[in-house]
Amino acid sequence: AVKISGVYKWFGEFQVLSDVNLEVTRGERIVICGPSGSGKSTMIRCVNALEPFQRGSIVVDGVSVTDDLKRIDEVRREVGMVFQQFNLFPHLTVLQNCTLAPIHVRKMPRKEADEIAMRYLARVRIPEQANKYPAQLSGGQQQRVAIARALCMSPKIMMFDEPTSALDPEMVKEVLDTMVSLAETGMTMLCVTHEMGFARQVADRVVFMDAGQIVEINTPEEFFSHPQHERTKTFLGQIL
Ligand code: ATP
Ligand code: MG
Repeated sequence: AVKISGVYKWFGEFQVLSDVNLEVTRGERIVICGPSGSGKSTMIRCVNALEPFQRGSIVVDGVSVTDDLKRIDEVRREVGMVFQQFNLFPHLTVLQNCTLAPIHVRKMPRKEADEIAMRYLARVRIPEQANKYPAQLSGGQQQRVAIARALCMSPKIMMFDEPTSALDPEMVKEVLDTMVSLAETGMTMLCVTHEMGFARQVADRVVFMDAGQIVEINTPEEFFSHPQHERTKTFLGQIL
């Protein structure tokens, strides 16, 4: 579903990604972890063209991520993204947040968009919040709206960038539960997260990044019990 081949990226002089290679098959769940500044966010942002890269290639569901704006739109339609800071539109209700892109990008009739949005809001277990504004919700609820909003575009792939790290501890579980149930539907998922319980529970593979490189890719069992590299061991020692 996603093929990242030999990707290099620089921010000016600073090399942020160095020969990144990762192939994600349909239905696969990937957890990406690594120290702060290692390039995790940058890597997934390259996948949906939120960041340009200078060398290598990324193909998303057969479409090459290039500078061609038409192509970029095509890719973004297939890839849902959930950020650490929910990024909901504050002046729109929960329901309007969910229907905006389907109506304006997919040209879906409002009634149909509303129905689909209500279905996803029910799936993330907050249908009763549909007519509230984001500021009236808890962090965990806002993040579940962000997930529902992404799902309303029927993405083929969902990417998460530390979706629980801005949440109070008691709200982390409700968001992780939502992600676990999404994984159970067979969705292809790329999740940057340090929630290692989640990684053990749903990841097919764990990717460890350091200093702009993928240092190690392994099943969660192997990753946690037999980390291959010193850098992985040091990292796991710090977070577990
Ligand atoms: P964190 O765990 O803190 O979110 P990360 O692994 O997601 O870290 P990135 O956000 O991808 O790391 O950043 C990788 C490196 O690139 C960091 O050193 C960061 O300072 C640098 N960087 C990120 N965005 C920019 C930018 N727009 N301009 C210049 N440097 C940047
Ligand atoms: Mg990041």
